[in-house]
Amino acid sequence: MSKAIALFSGGLDSMLAAKLVASQNIDVVCVNFTSPFFDSKKAEASAKHINLPLIIEDITPDYLKMLHSPRYGFGKNMNPCIDCHILMLKITGQKMESLGADFIITGEVLGQRPMSQTKQSLNMIAKNSGCADYILRPLSAQLLTPIKAEMEGKIDRSMLLSISGRGRKDQMRLAKEFGITNYPPPAGGCLLTDPMFTRRLRELFAHSRNPEIRDYHLLKYGRHFRTQDGVKIIVGRNNRDNEELKKLADNKDVACNMTDFPGPYVLVPEPGVNVSSINIACALCARYSDAPDDSEATVICQQNGKSSKVKCIALFKEDCERLMI
Ligand code: SF4
Repeated sequence: MSKAIALFSGGLDSMLAAKLVASQNIDVVCVNFTSPFFDSKKAEASAKHINLPLIIEDITPDYLKMLHSPRYGFGKNMNPCIDCHILMLKITGQKMESLGADFIITGEVLGQRPMSQTKQSLNMIAKNSGCADYILRPLSAQLLTPIKAEMEGKIDRSMLLSISGRGRKDQMRLAKEFGITNYPPPAGGCLLTDPMFTRRLRELFAHSRNPEIRDYHLLKYGRHFRTQDGVKIIVGRNNRDNEELKKLADNKDVACNMTDFPGPYVLVPEPGVNVSSINIACALCARYSDAPDDSEATVICQQNGKSSKVKCIALFKEDCERLMI
């Protein structure tokens, strides 16, 4: 029995590609990669829905190395889609070997994306991944050069498809045939395509040559400020932000809370915390709390298990705007 490994985003095209191959009685294992910028939730739900096994792997170190200088540059935001595809295919190729699989499946559709899915881009991505002879795109296979497994008869090319372009009609019909009723919307899920996240990420790169992995996760929550000394301050916008920031906080960070009024959780992550940044963090805490703007408020600051009270006035709106990232 032939075996294939499917690079699986969890989107409809990746579900259909994996199912199409599995329907030829080929053993299909899906693989999904995670990083601070995308997770595996979509892939987990989709793999369960089509009843195929899923391997999840965190590729953060390799991903960050690539993100600092992607050979093929960025898309509209900080999304290095071409290099991202190449990296994921390269790692999938290594998995193919270790699992003893015969080929790799992707859900790519010829002409669906103007930059990364032209015939030339697909070929270039495959070549750079080092797995060109092993990458099967079942949804468009009949429009592409046969791969090794097709020529060796490990998969029947006549049962593969010739879908191209941005339309979704063929995919909808196929989903119906396979009984796939739950699938996520086509776009979304990658923070590197989000303009606000991109702004914060650029700012992080401008201030830190070697950010820690936690710094990337912190970019997802709260309002972000940078003091003139270069210290980052993060102010939770709601309960969810507050809880997520607390989970990411370290004992060495400074955490601020209001004492007498409802207010945000404010985090000043190490390194670089200084007295001036703590005072600004307290004033920000007061600014985004229910305390009156014009009277003194008390903020509790905690660091290394010790807490102290700081009296402050809410930071002026103009100063908030000036420091906000
Ligand atoms: S959108 Fe994000 S995850 Fe998808 S290819 Fe681009 S960089 Fe990679």
